[in-house]
Amino acid sequence: MATGKPPSSAAAARIDLYSDTVTRPGQGMRRAIAEAEVGDEQHRLDPTVNRLVERVSELLGAEDALFLPSGTMCNMISLRVHCSLGDEAITDRSAHIRVNESGGPAALAGVNIATIDGDKGVFTAHQLREAIRPIGNHFPRSRCVIIEQTANLTGGVIWPIETIREVCDTAKKFGLSCHMDGARLFNAVVETGVPGSEFCRSFDSAWIDFSKGLGAPVGAALTGSADFIREAWRFKHQFGGAMRQSGIVAAAALYAIEHNITRLADDHRNARRFAEILRDAPGITVEPVHTNMVFFTVGGRNVLDQAEPDNTSTFTPARVFADAALNQGVRFSVVGPRRLRAVTHLDVTSHQVEEAAKIALQIAKSSVI
Ligand SMILES: *Cc1c(COP(=O)(O)O)cnc(C)c1O
Repeated sequence: MATGKPPSSAAAARIDLYSDTVTRPGQGMRRAIAEAEVGDEQHRLDPTVNRLVERVSELLGAEDALFLPSGTMCNMISLRVHCSLGDEAITDRSAHIRVNESGGPAALAGVNIATIDGDKGVFTAHQLREAIRPIGNHFPRSRCVIIEQTANLTGGVIWPIETIREVCDTAKKFGLSCHMDGARLFNAVVETGVPGSEFCRSFDSAWIDFSKGLGAPVGAALTGSADFIREAWRFKHQFGGAMRQSGIVAAAALYAIEHNITRLADDHRNARRFAEILRDAPGITVEPVHTNMVFFTVGGRNVLDQAEPDNTSTFTPARVFADAALNQGVRFSVVGPRRLRAVTHLDVTSHQVEEAAKIALQIAKSSVI
């Protein structure tokens, strides 16, 4: 999430709240990996991958699913299936696919991204309607709408099921495909009690990431109709995402689905507790907590204008704050000149999260920034 340089002393972090991607497989997951039955995935002969895609299809109420190495590849393949060169996909301005995927939509799918200024990552059917281009030779063709559940950069915000239905109804009326970036769909499921299949019902494609809050080391699964997945298989090969004895990693994903979904509620509770403690900190504004993320902004002098052109200045207030925390063994991610993010996950206990919040509170009080 931080720009530029890799986070320098990641190894030093005792309490790592950089992202929910930092988890390491525990004993049970490692046993599942060691005992996985495997075969050639490319010929659909890997029994563990086959079980995984069946299970994910069931959970998301889809006809079929495809196992892929990453969420980013799920997004790119979906754009390839839904769009042609020069077409446009519409999403919120904060969307991961627009901000954090290295320009992939343009580079790998030839797709223009049109943005909507939503409310914390969530936009309305009316806003979508306004973003859809008129038909004509001057315009890109609006072909696809993308919803991020939960919306990451705006705070782990949950798209309400009613808003999803309205947005997707409008999309369909205008011939657009509906795609869900569900990297953290299960955080929304656990928080609201709405089943994954309900959230996904209006979509032509939806995917989940096993390497975020679910705690697996690798992998994502893309779901859709049988026709959609048949097309997606072609692009899985084209993108180099067709694997072989990938049951080794699919076993970890299956384990994650069986063991790590309901416990996401603990992460949400820990995030709320973190925010509660930090709320008293002088000079810090804590954003509302929706799921497992806490975003906060810090005061202090912003010297970004004098910073290095690659935007990696160590002198922005957020970077100074993050470094001070790291000195005490706590790692946050820096997401703006003043904005930081703390993410809770299965490798931090409630006690550690409280400790991290207290350290942040101390830093705020100690005029380091
Ligand atoms: C992490 C993330 C992705 C990309 O997933 P990878 O598995 O890291 O490629 C896409 N969208 C959102 C919202 C994410 O948080």
